[in-house]
Amino acid sequence: MTVATSPTAPALISLSGVRREYPAGEGTIAALAGVDLEIRAGEMVAIVGPSGSGKSTLMNILGCLDRPTAGSYRIAGRDTAALGPDELAALRRERFGFVFQRYHLLSELTALGNVEMPATYAGTSPANRKRRAAALLGRLGMADRLGHRPGQLSGGQQQRVSIARALVNGADVVFADEPTGALDRASGDEVLRILDELNAEGTTVVIVTHDMAVASQAERIVEISDGVLVGDRRVREPAPRTPRQAAVEPGAASPLRAAADRFREALRMALLAMNAHRLRTVLTMLGIIIGIASVVCVVALGEGSRRMILSNISSLGTNTLEVFPGADFGDVRSAKVKTLVMDDARALAGQPFVAGVTPTVSTNSTLRHGALEVSAMINGVGEQYFVVKGTKLADGRFFDGGSVATMAQEVVIDENTRKALFSAEADGAVGRTLLIGKVPFRVIGVTRQQQGGFGSSANPSVYLPYTTVQARILGSYSLRSITVLVDDATDTKLAEQAVVDVLRKRHGTKDFFILNTDDIRRTITATAEVLTLLIAAIAVISLIVGGIGVMNIMLVSVSERVGEIGVRMAVGARRSDIMQQFLIEAVLVCLIGGLIGIATALAFGAAFAAVGSSFSLVYSGTSIVAAVLCSTLIGVLFGWLPARNASRLDPVAALARD
Ligand code: ADP
Ligand code: MG
Repeated sequence: MTVATSPTAPALISLSGVRREYPAGEGTIAALAGVDLEIRAGEMVAIVGPSGSGKSTLMNILGCLDRPTAGSYRIAGRDTAALGPDELAALRRERFGFVFQRYHLLSELTALGNVEMPATYAGTSPANRKRRAAALLGRLGMADRLGHRPGQLSGGQQQRVSIARALVNGADVVFADEPTGALDRASGDEVLRILDELNAEGTTVVIVTHDMAVASQAERIVEISDGVLVGDRRVREPAPRTPRQAAVEPGAASPLRAAADRFREALRMALLAMNAHRLRTVLTMLGIIIGIASVVCVVALGEGSRRMILSNISSLGTNTLEVFPGADFGDVRSAKVKTLVMDDARALAGQPFVAGVTPTVSTNSTLRHGALEVSAMINGVGEQYFVVKGTKLADGRFFDGGSVATMAQEVVIDENTRKALFSAEADGAVGRTLLIGKVPFRVIGVTRQQQGGFGSSANPSVYLPYTTVQARILGSYSLRSITVLVDDATDTKLAEQAVVDVLRKRHGTKDFFILNTDDIRRTITATAEVLTLLIAAIAVISLIVGGIGVMNIMLVSVSERVGEIGVRMAVGARRSDIMQQFLIEAVLVCLIGGLIGIATALAFGAAFAAVGSSFSLVYSGTSIVAAVLCSTLIGVLFGWLPARNASRLDPVAALARD
């Protein structure tokens, strides 16, 4: 930027007919009522006027923090009305420096950090901006205060930090709104001396004051009253100027590096803000932690239960078909349907794809042994039943075809029955006699407890030849079911169809239905999935509630930091910079919450395993990755609105609220 002090050069700043109206009640009041003003590069101008005359309003318009309601404002011949928010931010960042009455330093940052901040937005490399900020502070007599926070500095020192901040990007215009207003005489004079020195180096200085003594330092005094200029006089001739060197030193970082640098700065600010409100941050995170932990746990529980159920079903035997009388499950007449008989079983046994067939009849009855009695399920089965079902013996033997043919009074009991009736017998149950109703039977075998399988309830069950049950207990020859073991080479679906065809031909009608263990597996898997989905939906709701908590806290955070946002905008932060800062904060809260949530879920699984449950939680990598993505997404989703609100703030209003 070249500096031209000759009267023929175009004015650096040119206002014509500028009005600024504020809404007041029904109408408006004009803080500026038609201002025409030209300021040339290198001038030092004091704007004086009583309180409320419109000085600050004028200053905000000059500094592109505010726009005129009417009239035009040109900078170096360029109309500012045509510039968008980010172009105005660029002007503030690269050409303007602000010095405020109340310093407006960021309290979490050190003196050095405050001075560096505008350079971050300008994309200066970290080493360069640190060097430049330290040099400026050194020059203003603050070399030994670089690491101090604003709270640890006097007013005069804070104002010097804010002057250094205004200069760090090599501003060629410095706007100072009552820079000495909050300072004692000596500090005020020091600040004025610095501004004067800057002006002597070629910087254009516009200083607003209500103090004539301060104004007299300038070479030109512009008087304002009730929003109109009432005087403009030159008090002394401009000193000869040395032209300023290029504003910003070379050594700016590449755009990518600069963006990464801004991201790092935003990250640092987000961490500082989170640290400043630890309790609030933790409470907000809690919602996300609980949500993510429950989602991960539920998915792991679902997967664990699915695997357990599947392993149980496989103990049932995969390729069996069970034929029942009646139209379908729950057919109330199925007990009366007497058409399923032994000849059906024989016909099925003759089919080429059948590896084994066993008929079943069943009833409930009371078993007695000595003084003990227990109510049990009486299963009348064929000798192949044990093969078809894959039943194992703990003791003794199974009955054979001969026993079935002769209606032998032999019984195979299960572990539950043994415990109930024979636990007192030292040499086991085999060879003993028990009574079913009034009929005596000899115990020939004890089955092994099936591991968690279907029907492995605590109910005692006993197995007898079906002929024995039909003749000696039921007195009826119809069957409760026929179990068909399909050979391995045949598809169960095809076999099922073939069984239906055979039986329909024999019965003339379909008065039976078939249960396919494959179908059961599928039904149970589907049921487990539906359940998982249902619980996951509840967990997702809790995540949404957590997300709303994050949004709420981010809105609070934004409204608490309006002043900071105003300062950042004044020194030239883009809307996207502000947006990024708050989005990062929201995402960090969610991401950290998410990671803690996952850790909680894993700990829960470990605790579950430690108490020795037979059932285990199965965590999948996908669900954990999904949880991380999900929490990030919640941060973006629920942080977006507050971050956008922050980025849309009006810099003047934001500064005023500080
Ligand atoms: P000065 O800085 O000279 O003391 P200001 O420029 O701050 O004066 O204010 C000029 C006039 O505009 C005052 O009457 C003030 O009440 C009014 N004003 C300033 N800011 C606002 C605002 N945001 N809303 C309404 N009126 C305002
Ligand atoms: Mg003011």
